[in-house]
Amino acid sequence: MEDCIFCSIVAKETPANIEYEDEEIMAFWDIEPKVEVHILIVPKKHIPSITDLQDIDSPLIGKMVMVAKLLAEKKGISEDGYRLVFNVGKHSGQVVNHIHLHLMGGEPLGEMTD
Ligand code: 5GP
Ligand code: ZN
Repeated sequence: MEDCIFCSIVAKETPANIEYEDEEIMAFWDIEPKVEVHILIVPKKHIPSITDLQDIDSPLIGKMVMVAKLLAEKKGISEDGYRLVFNVGKHSGQVVNHIHLHLMGGEPLGEMTD
């Protein structure tokens, strides 16, 4: 997909600090971490938003959550807890139109609406 920063990272045309990769998924650090551990889990397939998901994508989304769980364990933040967030559309402040799951933790997190 042209002009998609996350497709460019997936294609390794734009550098990123990659934590995980398989045939369907990539995970890399957020360029501006909002908390101690802030990793983005993305499908390699370009899907703009949760609103564009189809039934066939269900296993992919499940796998993204499993990768988040794995990375939380790898980073040692599982025991204290963390947050998984999908921003969807205008009201959420979604700025990158390629689905990404935020894995955030490593410190106490504020209220959901902060
Ligand atoms: P959104 O608000 O769309 O859910 O979050 C997009 C996230 O992507 C933001 O937290 C932002 O810092 C991050 N981001 C934007 N551009 C880049 C980039 O080029 N590289 C990386 N690693 N993260 C990015
Ligand atoms: Zn994309």
